[in-house]
Parts: sequence; structure tokens; C-alpha cells
Amino acid sequence: MTNPLREYEDWARACMHVRCGLCRENCAAYRQFEMDSYSPKGRITMLHHWLEGTLQPSQEMSERVHACTGCGLCDLACGYPQSEAIQSMKNQLFEAGYGPPSSYAKIIENAHQTGNPYGESNQSATEFLSAQPESQSTGMERLYFIGCTELYREREQVENVLRILRKANVSFGLLSENFCCGSPIYRVGDVGHAKHHAGQLVEQLVERGTKEIIISCSGCFSMFSNIYEDLIVELPSLQFIHITEVLDELVRTGELNLGKIEKVVTYHDPCHLGRHSGIYEEPRNVIEAIPGVTLVEMEWSGKFSHCCGAGGGLKAGRADDAVALGAMRVREAEETGAQILVTSCPFCLRNLRDGAESIKSDIEISSVVSLLMSSMTNYQEGRMLN
Ligand code: SF4
Ligand code: SF4
Repeated sequence: MTNPLREYEDWARACMHVRCGLCRENCAAYRQFEMDSYSPKGRITMLHHWLEGTLQPSQEMSERVHACTGCGLCDLACGYPQSEAIQSMKNQLFEAGYGPPSSYAKIIENAHQTGNPYGESNQSATEFLSAQPESQSTGMERLYFIGCTELYREREQVENVLRILRKANVSFGLLSENFCCGSPIYRVGDVGHAKHHAGQLVEQLVERGTKEIIISCSGCFSMFSNIYEDLIVELPSLQFIHITEVLDELVRTGELNLGKIEKVVTYHDPCHLGRHSGIYEEPRNVIEAIPGVTLVEMEWSGKFSHCCGAGGGLKAGRADDAVALGAMRVREAEETGAQILVTSCPFCLRNLRDGAESIKSDIEISSVVSLLMSSMTNYQEGRMLN
């Protein structure tokens, strides 16, 4: 079978010849490790020599390739799909027996043992989910899918989403137990196992007659929207909607009463939601709809947003490096004068919070969902006072 990396052969050769290195400076991994072999160009050089037969895959190569967070910022430097090629290197290294470093591999081991990348017992998730009235409903054309990170690490996000959807009378169902979408496993190169998870989940959705899926984790959203079609033969027709799209619609149509929050806010675009899925406006619309909020932008934002450092398994595999990158992003937010740094992905939320804590930053870290919930609470309390 032809090595799937051949797809990138001509481009990697061209990259070798131009020797420009434009993609290097803003690469998340290069910013942290400051070595060429940790830059996009360094990884593409390895890919080129692997295909030429002048470099053999190895655990050392795997270590450098897995330092990539998959943020996709390098793709904008010259228009070549570096991040896709690097993900393919992770996959091929896994196939060749050089999987991710052991600190990342626990994601795979945990998923094998418990069905979720955190290695948590599924009992607490099942108890929480089956206690929600929506998990009992039979007509599940629209489903709110809760990813493992929110379910096991950021439960408050889930509770806020549920409150908002209920308040706005949005009809939706819930699965009564957790099914990992497979994203964390895919990102560290275990395509076969990710396929298994994806297939299992889609089977559940088909069984329930689901047509639309609301997703609040940007990592899961990107997995569903961009990767599932490559993993599942004959993927049924499903519509994937990010929670910020739902909230934007609810705010625009006046379904939610919003109270004042007089704060300066900046927004961090999660790589999976922004660059990988093209959703930039909706979260900003929601933030700007809150009375009293002033939205300011960081220098590197929108399409050119710097990575928070949590992606590609870095948060699990090299926690200190991920947090250091989170701290860099927090510093960028501080430079805007913002009081709150808001994002819309539980991975970014966790890593920015850890980054802020590591540098003792005063900036508040929040999410679009939590900010909106606070605004709704302020409205409610204001009415009660009046
Ligand atoms: S910007 Fe493109 S051509 Fe230049 S080094 Fe990076 S990958 Fe190669
Ligand atoms: S995807 Fe991000 S971390 Fe990976 S090589 Fe490109 S810029 Fe660097």
C-alpha cells in the first residue's frame, strides 16, 4: 500500500527548495521549544527525508511531531496544508510502531480501559446524564452532545448550556451515557481506535433518529464536522451546530433577557472552532449583545489567533509546556486591557485558566456560555431588585 504521506511529497520537496521558514515564528511548538526540529518546517523536513528514505521513522521523530498542537496557524504562511500533513505523520508513525510518547499514550490506554480519555469511571457520567429529563425523551431529532472534557472536567459548562437551552425552550435530547467522539485519540495518531469510537457514537445517533447535533466542545465539533467523513464510510446526513451558533440565534431573536456586565472583554478563538471550522463571528456576536460589555481584540485574533497550547494531546503529554503556552496567550490578552478573557472550548478554557494561574494574572478566564449565563442572572436579579 502506498504511504499516505506521498500525498504531501511534491509540496514537501518544494518547501525544501524555497527554505523560507515563514511558518516558524508563530508556531505554538516553536514558540515554546525554540528548536527548528519543533517547527513546522522541521517536521516537513523529516517528512521529506522519510519519503526519500534518508531518515527512518523513530521515537525521537515521534516526540518532535507530537509537540505540534495541530493549531493550523502554519497553514496560513504559504498556503500548504502543513497541519494536515503533520497529523498524517502522527497517524503513520503510529502505524509504524512509533506511537506518541508514553505521557500522551495514556489518552489511548484510558480510552481502551474506560471508554473516555480521562480514565474516569463512567458511572458518574451516567448518573448525571440519566438524571436529566432530556435523556428520557424519545424523539431525539435534535441532540445536545456533551464531550468528555466538559462532562468530566468542566461540568459547570454543561450545566450552563442546559439552563440556557431550557430557558429558551429549545427542544433537545441527551444521550443517557457517555460516548467519546474519538477526537483525543485521533489527535495522537490512533486512527483505528478513533474510528471505533466514531462508529459506536454514530450508531447511537442513528438509532435515536438524530438529525441535528448541538456541540459545546470545539474539539468534538471539529472532529464531527471535519474528520468523521474520513473515518466513517457512508456517514449519515447529520447537521453539526456549535453552541455559539445556537446562542447567537437565540440572542438575535430576543429569546433571552440579558442584564448588564460592565467589563472589557477579549475573545480567544479556539483553533478547532476558528481556523478549522470557520466560526469567528457568532461567539463575538453573543459577547457584543451583552449590555455593558466592550469587546476588544488581541493582535493575533480571528483567523490569525495564536494557539492556547492545549491541542494535539499537549495538555496531557507535556502539561508544563501547554501551560506555558497558555500563559503566553494570557499575556497577549492582558495587553488589550481586557478584564475578562473569554473562549468557547473547554480545552482552551482549562489551559488558559492554568496559564493565568501560573503567572498570577488578574484577568478572569471565562467562556461565552458562562458570560451569557452571568448576564441572564444579572437580568433576573435586577428584576427581582426592582
Ligand atoms: S512557509 Fe511553507 S514553504 Fe515556507 S518553510 Fe513553511 S512550509 Fe515550507
Ligand atoms: S499546526 Fe500549529 S503547532 Fe503544529 S506545526 Fe503548525 S503552527 Fe506549529
